[in-house]
Amino acid sequence: LRCLKLNAVSRVCSAPIKSEEQHIRLLQWNILSQTLGQNNDGFVRCPEEALTWDHRKYLIVQEILQNQPDVVCLQEVDHFKFLQTVLGCQNYEGIFYPKPDSPCLYIEDNNGPDGCAIFYKRDKLKLQCYDTRVLEVWRVQSNQVAIAARLQVKATGREFCVCTTHLKARHGALLAKLRNEQGRDLVRFIKQFAGESPVLLCGDFNAEPIEPIYATILTCDILKLSSAYANIKLDQDQDQLNSEDAIKDDEQQAALGDVSELVAQSIKREPPYTTWKIREDGEECHTIDYVFYTHEQLKIKNCLEFPAGEQIGKNRTPCFQYPSDHFSLVCDFELLETPSTQS
Ligand code: NDP
Ligand code: CA
Repeated sequence: LRCLKLNAVSRVCSAPIKSEEQHIRLLQWNILSQTLGQNNDGFVRCPEEALTWDHRKYLIVQEILQNQPDVVCLQEVDHFKFLQTVLGCQNYEGIFYPKPDSPCLYIEDNNGPDGCAIFYKRDKLKLQCYDTRVLEVWRVQSNQVAIAARLQVKATGREFCVCTTHLKARHGALLAKLRNEQGRDLVRFIKQFAGESPVLLCGDFNAEPIEPIYATILTCDILKLSSAYANIKLDQDQDQLNSEDAIKDDEQQAALGDVSELVAQSIKREPPYTTWKIREDGEECHTIDYVFYTHEQLKIKNCLEFPAGEQIGKNRTPCFQYPSDHFSLVCDFELLETPSTQS
């Protein structure tokens, strides 16, 4: 299965891969907290055995390692020490930041709070610094967090920043507004941390693309972010156009029209789902996980496809095959030469 998924990456690859140092592979995944998944989520169609940590832990590690990402961004991590130990033997270093009042702590026999984690390949990348944030809503701390890390490509000295988050869950207009405020705080936090460096921002935003936060992120003028899965085709077509010398980047941008049209087009190009589960109250199939990137400094080259409905099976996820109710998003980026970095 993992090999099939990897093949999917190479199937969508249209451009020749340049040198390794200019490329960054990012894996974004809400791995499903062990304590919440087993005791709180109510995955009525998932066999009990499939939800045990003994079963899930190998699948989680396998999913990460088979994709060989340079950077791994995870949410709902409540077994950080295990991941740190196992991934630590496989060339990864990690950072963890728990939620201040994790719902895991209210469940008997929990394994500590859940939170966000970033791992990176230590032979390729060097951690320059990192920062964490409890996201604020109307200047009051919420229960959601973010981690930002500045990484340097050892071979070239180029730097980029990675930020991951897990926003407030649940449906409703008020919660969508709250998520939007968390998003506004998030972009301010990233801008302050990253300055002019390239940025990769990913996570479980718990928001469909039609929610206000999606437009907030795409139209935020301090960061100039695009969505990787929405832009993959566009960037590949652009490659073709560029090779024909027919159109320049900014002309293509202008052709897309005003900002709201740009967001509307991006919404349409998002994948149909990133999470697919069945709870007692029914089936939930949503696009709520994203990878955003600063399009002036990074180019999206590949995105890993999601398994089709028939591959997932009628009981959806989690299941024996898929350890989380979210799918991993895997993206290959190229660090572009910008005027300030050209020699
Ligand atoms: P969120 O609303 O962000 O959700 C917490 C977790 O619940 C997420 O990991 C989310 O997963 C998951 N979740 C989402 N929808 C459902 C669902 N329908 N059924 C089950 N799980 C779901 O919570 P907060 O982090 O804001 O925490 C909630 C607060 O509640 C905490 O501050 C804590 O104090 C309190 N609490 C108290 C408890 C108690 O017993 N007193 C128990 C639990 C929480 P995903 O993001 O993947 O959707
Ligand atoms: Ca969850």
